[in-house]
Amino acid sequence: MEKLLQIENLNVSFNTYGGEVKAVRGVSFSVKKGEAVAIVGESGCGKSVTAKSIMKLLTAPPAEYKEGKILFHGQDLLPLPENEMKKIRGNKISMIFQDPMSSLNPTSRIGDQLIEGLVKHNRMSRAIALQHAVQLLERVGIPHAKSRLKHYPHEFSGGMRQRVMIAIALACDPELIIADEPTTALDVTIQAQVLTLMKKLQKETNTSIILITHDLGVVAEVCDKVIVMYAGEVVESGSVEEIFSNPTHPYTKGLMKSIPRLDMDRSSRLYSIVGSPPDLLDPPKGCSFYPRCEYAMKVCKDYHPELELVSGTQQSSCWLHHPMAQAAAAKVREDH
Ligand code: SF4
Ligand code: MG
Repeated sequence: MEKLLQIENLNVSFNTYGGEVKAVRGVSFSVKKGEAVAIVGESGCGKSVTAKSIMKLLTAPPAEYKEGKILFHGQDLLPLPENEMKKIRGNKISMIFQDPMSSLNPTSRIGDQLIEGLVKHNRMSRAIALQHAVQLLERVGIPHAKSRLKHYPHEFSGGMRQRVMIAIALACDPELIIADEPTTALDVTIQAQVLTLMKKLQKETNTSIILITHDLGVVAEVCDKVIVMYAGEVVESGSVEEIFSNPTHPYTKGLMKSIPRLDMDRSSRLYSIVGSPPDLLDPPKGCSFYPRCEYAMKVCKDYHPELELVSGTQQSSCWLHHPMAQAAAAKVREDH
């Protein structure tokens, strides 16, 4: 599969009154054509900043792209001027946000919003755009599509609004869709419907997807690959099978444990990782997860673990995988 997007050593900071917040630190990953990649982690771990960087939607100052490359079809987007980015945004890469109300114009009918996008990006006549708009709403499963075009955003339910957002994102036949927590605001059954729809459309159109979520549970359904982020860094990555069958980083293990299960006793409380992520104004010198990690060793506090291949395509940044750690652990066992 051809590489569509390749992020290399991305570093993004926010310059605040308190100092430099290092929100994204040395992030690298790639997305192939037709691949669905999940970026998972707690809020504030740098997922959305990474996604918005791809769209160059972070404005400077106070956001600053410190280092790295975002290669789209081999072309680095970071140095591109805004007029060039405008040709890519919404056309080749589109984005779906968590709250459709904030991205839809409340004072404009859904049809006008769809048609406007179609006319602008695809240079089609209004009459053809209208036909297209009806087809798009039908594709995302909105009943009575033609009459719904006359409705305003508030006349749709949350799930239907998110379908409209997907229709708008699809309007220009993008090569990549970035969906930032697209179902978080919806209730569970509607969430499942929207995710199933996204998966179906992705299969039909061979569009690549980056799905950003704090909920590892929604990933298995839709995605091929998982990137786990913590404190602005990638701490583990691999195929969905690899991550689900053998999570290796203690943080990923914690996220896995916090997925609600069907067989769970209703009275049992959901696991949550104790503590909170570190302050990115002053990230820890060693492993960022050290203060919360139940496996932490002395080395973890002072030395930063790099991402290393652990098996197949799976990479993890944790001293536990270091051959010396294994040897040290074996020695401790021997001594006892
Ligand atoms: Fe835990 Fe150490 Fe691994 Fe960090 S490097 S996740 S502190 S065991
Ligand atoms: Mg976010």
